Amino acid sequence: MTGIDDLPIRDELRGKSPYGAPQLDVPVRLNTNENPYPLPEPLVRRIGERVTEAARHLNRYPDRDAVELRTALAAYLTRTAGHAVEAANVWAANGSNEVLQQLLQTFGGPGRTAIGFEPSYSMHALISRGTGTGWISGPRNDDFTIDVDAAVRTIGEQRPDVVFICSPNNPTGTAVDAGTVLALYEAAQAAKPSLVVVDEAYGEFSHGDSLLPLIEGRPNLVVSRTMSKAFGAAGLRLGYLAAHPAVVDAVQLVRLPYHLSAVTQATALAALEHTDTLLGYVEQLKTERDRLVTELRAMGCEVTDSDANFVQFGLPRSLKGVGGTPTDDAHTVWQALLDHGVLVRDNGVPGRLRVTAGTPAENDAFLDAVRAVIKERSTKENR
Ligand code: PMP
Repeated sequence: MTGIDDLPIRDELRGKSPYGAPQLDVPVRLNTNENPYPLPEPLVRRIGERVTEAARHLNRYPDRDAVELRTALAAYLTRTAGHAVEAANVWAANGSNEVLQQLLQTFGGPGRTAIGFEPSYSMHALISRGTGTGWISGPRNDDFTIDVDAAVRTIGEQRPDVVFICSPNNPTGTAVDAGTVLALYEAAQAAKPSLVVVDEAYGEFSHGDSLLPLIEGRPNLVVSRTMSKAFGAAGLRLGYLAAHPAVVDAVQLVRLPYHLSAVTQATALAALEHTDTLLGYVEQLKTERDRLVTELRAMGCEVTDSDANFVQFGLPRSLKGVGGTPTDDAHTVWQALLDHGVLVRDNGVPGRLRVTAGTPAENDAFLDAVRAVIKERSTKENR
C-alpha cells in the first residue's frame, strides 16, 4: 500500500508526525487548554444575527483587510493590555497558529533559523519546519524559567532570524518577565536584526501584566494572541498579533487573499461585543487554576507555578519511580488518570503532565483521580 514515504514529499518532512493531541471520548477532557465554558446564550444569539447578516453578502469576497475586526481587537487590547494600539498595529488570521505561520513565512524560511526555549509550545518548532525554517532548541532552567545568560549566549552564537518567547509558557505555565524579554530582544538585535515573537496565547490568565507595552519603539517585537482560550472560542479559529504597523504591512506579502472568511469576521466581532462576560469566566478559571495548584501541592505533588489556564505537575517524589523520572513514567501516570476517566496531556516533559483548568466539577474529578492514583501507587509500594 502506498504510504507517505512513497510520495515525493520534502526531505525534511520524512518520518515526522503531525501535531496530534488525542481527541478521545472520555468524561473529563482537560488536555488541550480549551475553555470549559460554552459561549453564553445571548452571545450565541448575537453570533446568529451577525452571521445571518454576513450570509446575505457571501456572494462577495470578505473584507480582505478585516478592518472592522482589527479595530475591535485594537480597542480590546487598548482596554485590557496596558498599551494603546490601533487597527494599523493589529493583524488577524485563522488562529494564532496561522499568525505564527505568516510571521515565519515572512521573517523565517529556507536558509534562516528560529529559536525557542524548550519545553515550550511544540508548534513553534513544527511551523518552523513547515516553512523551511531551521529550528534551534534553546535552554531553560530546572524550574522551567528561561536561563537568561544561557539564552543570550545561544542567541549571540546562533544568530537566529526569529526568537520565540512563550509567556505564559505552554506546557509549563511559566510567565516571562519584561526584563527577560528585553534582554533577549537586545541580544537578538545585537546578533543581527531579527524578529522577536512573544506568544501570549494565555496572556489573559496571567497574574501579571501583558508584555504588549514592550512593542513601543521596538519594531522587531511582536505579541501574538488568540480568541481560542480567554474568549472560549477555540472552534472559531481567530488569532491576532500586535506590532509596529510595518510588521502588519510585511505579513501582507505572504497572507492568502481573503484568508479570514466573512463568517469568521462576523463571529469574532460578536464575541468581542461580549468581552466582559467572557472575561468573567476567565476570572473563575484563574481561581480554579490557583485551586488546582494549591490542592496538588497539598497532596505532595510537584507543581510548577502557573500563569495560564493549565497546570504542570508530577506525582509526589516520595513515590518510587515517579517524581523526576523518565518520560515513559509520566505516560504511565497519564494512562492511570485516563483509566479514572480523566484525560490530561503528556507533553514529553520527564516526570510531568499538564492539566487544563476545567469547571469546578471537572477539576474535582481530576483531583479525585490524582488522589486515587497516588493511593494505588502507595499501596503497590507497601506491598
Ligand atoms: N500559542 C500557544 C502557546 C498555544 O498553546 C496555542 C494553542 N494550544 C496556540 C498558540 C495556538 O492557538 P490557536 O491557533 O487556537 O490560536
